Amino acid sequence: MRMHESDRLLAVQKAAVAQQGTPSYGMRRAALDTLLSIVRQQRRALIDAVSEDFGNRAASETELGELMPLSNAIKHARRHLRRWMRPQRRLADPAFWPARACIVYQPLGVVGIISPWNYPILLSLGPLVDAIAAGNRVMLKPSELTPRTSALLKSVLAGAYAEEQIAVVTGGADVAAHFSGLPFDHLVFTGSTRVGRAVMAAAAAHLTPVTLELGGKSPAIVCRDYPLAKAARSIAIGKLFNAGQTCVAPDYALVPAERIDAFATAYMAATRELYPTIAGNPDYSSIVSERHHRRLRDMVEEARAGGARIEERLEAGAAAERKLPPVLIIGAPASSALASEEIFGPILPVVPYADLPEALAWIIDRPKPLALYCFSNDRTAIASVINGTSSGGVTLNGTLLHVAQADLPFGGVGASGMGAYHGRDGFLQLSHARSVLGLGRFNMSERIAAPYGKLTRLATRLFLGRK
Ligand code: NAD
Repeated sequence: MRMHESDRLLAVQKAAVAQQGTPSYGMRRAALDTLLSIVRQQRRALIDAVSEDFGNRAASETELGELMPLSNAIKHARRHLRRWMRPQRRLADPAFWPARACIVYQPLGVVGIISPWNYPILLSLGPLVDAIAAGNRVMLKPSELTPRTSALLKSVLAGAYAEEQIAVVTGGADVAAHFSGLPFDHLVFTGSTRVGRAVMAAAAAHLTPVTLELGGKSPAIVCRDYPLAKAARSIAIGKLFNAGQTCVAPDYALVPAERIDAFATAYMAATRELYPTIAGNPDYSSIVSERHHRRLRDMVEEARAGGARIEERLEAGAAAERKLPPVLIIGAPASSALASEEIFGPILPVVPYADLPEALAWIIDRPKPLALYCFSNDRTAIASVINGTSSGGVTLNGTLLHVAQADLPFGGVGASGMGAYHGRDGFLQLSHARSVLGLGRFNMSERIAAPYGKLTRLATRLFLGRK
């Protein structure tokens, strides 16, 4: 069988782990500094590469949605790394006193990262920040759907790091499938739930632990007490950022039945305020590929054919730029793709509900989403939404922004993924928390050994009887 480039790189990195051991704080810090200067120096080139890959990606979206959270993550890690790396004192069980217990955080070794196209910089370099902080070596496989960005990442990282520390492998699904079957010490995959299953199966062959950052249908619940226009605008901001191609975008809105019409009007008005035009508007991003553009148009047509009410903005010229103007859909048939699949585009289905328990039941009956948004100022309503549902994360009275918090773990639950990263949680996820017990000079526990006699009986009676 032909040897893949990724086999060679993994062998090089594993040999470096064996020869060079655990990188010091200084080495990790230097690697983070280098990454921050890459982000600063390559800012324009990165913005242009993503935009060319998309057809048009708003420069501000690349800055707000990728470069800013990335540089925040690097700065946060630099600020806290020394403390994260410190061994943590734990309490030795009194039966073994004067023993001492602690946890030592060690690198796992070589971490593989597979990233998607929708935020091709952040979702490649974000996990890299946590992996470097935890002292690992990294192999990255970025998406083939954003070839210019992937090639740029490959060249700038190769120019700044030795391949034994950080290496990029580019290629299509065949390269990715091979990559996911390599014996990494950990694999971080961001992408669809369907491919996530294949990645986990491939990793299982080597018992490689996985962090799966997947997608799903993230609901936005608009409660009766909340100003409708404010909620509609906020949902439009989250839905239309990157033209809906965001893993944590609100997928659909649950709205009180009697307010559906008012919500639809407010939402469409908000889309016009945010994006007065679509064609020719550099702020409105294109759909990444012709296949995805068709997939989204087909979703709308299927709902239309099924009798749904469609609110849309007809814009001549949008399709030529591979853009899809905002669409709102009421009454999508339960069997339609729109109702069952992650939309990943600027289409918002609205689902009516009679009361909050009904809205919560709707969510609970479906796979656990990556994000959940709740618009309410009523503490009881908020508590019942948070306690009565599950999702990877939550933003109250807004959308997307829980992801931008360096000190909050980011990850899914159930069908939306497993494991989490960002900040200290990412450091922990990509470290081995090694338990170390040091027995004292005086070691009573070894007196309680065979041949078992009076002392053993006394000790067992004492400790078994202890509260
Ligand atoms: P995808 O699953 O199609 O591809 C992701 C990556 O997997 C790509 O690099 C691809 O080359 C690779 N891949 C393809 N086939 C593979 C295989 N058989 N084995 C291993 N790897 C393989 O996802 P996508 O279309 O690039 O991204 C969209 C999806 O990603 C959406 O479902 C979205 O919700 C999800 N997503 C999740 C997050 C998150 O943080 N949870 C973030 C962004 C996107």
